[in-house]
Amino acid sequence: MLDSLGNLRRTHYCGALRAADAGRDATVMGWVHRRRDLGNLLFLDVRDRAGLVQIVFNKETQPEAHAKAEQARSEYVVAIEGKVVKREKVNPEISTGEIELVANKLYILNTAKTPPFPIEGEINAAEETRLRYRYLDLRRPKPHRNLALRHKIVLEMRKAMDEMGFIEVETPMLTRSTPEGARDYLVPSRVHHGQFYALPQSPQIFKQILMIGGLDRYFQIVKCFRDEDLRADRQPEFTQLDLEMSFPRQEDIFGVIENVMVRSCEVAGIQVQAPFPHMLYKDAIRNYGTDKPDLRFAMELHEVTDCFPAEAKEKLYIEGNVFALAAPGAAAYSRKQLEELTEKAKSVGGRGAYFVKVTAEGTTSTVEKLIGAENVKKLAGACGAKSGDLVVAVSAKQEIKGTEAAAVVAGHMRLHLGEALHQIDRSKWKFAWLTGFPLFEWSDSDKTWVSAQHPFTGIVDEDLDKLETAPWEVRSKGYDLVLNGYELGSGSIRIHRQDIQERVFKALGLTEEQLRHRFGFFLDALTYGTPPHGGIALGVDRIAMLLSGEKSIREVIAFGKTTAAQDLMAESPSKVDREQLDQLGIQIKNQ
Ligand code: ASP
Repeated sequence: MLDSLGNLRRTHYCGALRAADAGRDATVMGWVHRRRDLGNLLFLDVRDRAGLVQIVFNKETQPEAHAKAEQARSEYVVAIEGKVVKREKVNPEISTGEIELVANKLYILNTAKTPPFPIEGEINAAEETRLRYRYLDLRRPKPHRNLALRHKIVLEMRKAMDEMGFIEVETPMLTRSTPEGARDYLVPSRVHHGQFYALPQSPQIFKQILMIGGLDRYFQIVKCFRDEDLRADRQPEFTQLDLEMSFPRQEDIFGVIENVMVRSCEVAGIQVQAPFPHMLYKDAIRNYGTDKPDLRFAMELHEVTDCFPAEAKEKLYIEGNVFALAAPGAAAYSRKQLEELTEKAKSVGGRGAYFVKVTAEGTTSTVEKLIGAENVKKLAGACGAKSGDLVVAVSAKQEIKGTEAAAVVAGHMRLHLGEALHQIDRSKWKFAWLTGFPLFEWSDSDKTWVSAQHPFTGIVDEDLDKLETAPWEVRSKGYDLVLNGYELGSGSIRIHRQDIQERVFKALGLTEEQLRHRFGFFLDALTYGTPPHGGIALGVDRIAMLLSGEKSIREVIAFGKTTAAQDLMAESPSKVDREQLDQLGIQIKNQ
């Protein structure tokens, strides 16, 4: 027979009891973590969100409570009235280790089936099982810690934004497409058969319209939805700190975000200094091979194309540039390890990898015969290689105007080797602002120019003339915030003139009819006195992931989805009733 909670009142969290509470009466409630039966004495470890406490049941002094405790099993829900006493032998492993609770009375409030995995600090259950039984997984201390930190970060963000005069405004979830480069999640309309809402990829258009509406400073902690291929740091729905302001200079937006990030880091016990350094996109690509450089370690890239004479290039099938880096202490790599590096380079789009070993005995190279001893030296010198270093040079076919394919491959090698050679200082927090992005990038799948960020990104004034003639040369007024090799967010000073916005849509291949149909309301709004404006959005899941030291955003999301975009617990997506489909006027095609 189960007991009822009745009027019972909890006085303490299990995990909050301390030596100072000794001598006090306490009532705790939680889950049975473990039971140890020593005959006359029976111990229950009882757990709640604050931690564990040991409860003692004495057969002689409290026979009734003791008898009941014999029925308790793992994960039963219990309440205990008792007295806090100091332990003879302290348990340093747990925060309540100096005391125990001597039970007078035990209430069994609910039973539990045996869980599919033990509720321990570290468990090795497969992620799939953890997600399916997320309510059990959530009982572990780590998810509690992560969700609590996430809460604190978001709270601090809200406070900071409020103090800076930003107003939180909600924007619709059932709306029309907001292009951010992904596919939309569509919601069919029951009232208008054949018509669909799109879930917002971001509140981009609405926040710009709020500026036209004179709100001046908007923010929102908001869910966004993008139907794209998922990775460890992506989910189909994710949360942004989204903001927009009127009449801003770029520095104003940077200042707002730096304040928010310094404060968010502080909440996580991490000290960072503002202002954050700036880096041009093209320098990031040439020096690090990526637009989200991990600046916690050096190993910068160097262009070494001129160390490869024409004949060598032909023999090695080098078509574009060659980029190289010095890997500290890797001169002793075996031939097998070099082969593995070559394979790695090829797997990320490299044509080939060429090596130079710098040792006390001299400098040797896998391409010495082809490029000559002088060039080998030059190559090592260009990378600043020291004795003991391995120079890794890579080439890649330059397929797209305005990109640096070999640098991108070298950038992958830098990260790979930086990790393998333990070059990354995990105690560092390296923020950077990336600027000077191209407005467009080439989409191989669509065979057309697409917006590098989104089509509302402003254009560097001097480059306006090239919009139609040399789109790859047009620079945007966009910027990204990067932390330790992750993109935390991006934003821009926007286009606020209707004529320019129309030209961009057209440069993106939209016909007059398409742009009227998709963006007519926005183009109209732009004609009614739009102030210059700009903003940014930061990925809250990613920030929480990094600041809590996790490697996957699923660890900081209460109910995450798999990489196949499924919620294993709620079993979504799922089939729906025929009746529901009929109401929506939808028929499912046979596969
Ligand atoms: N809407 C953009 C995004 O979601 C951010 C911005 O430009 O403010 O990435």
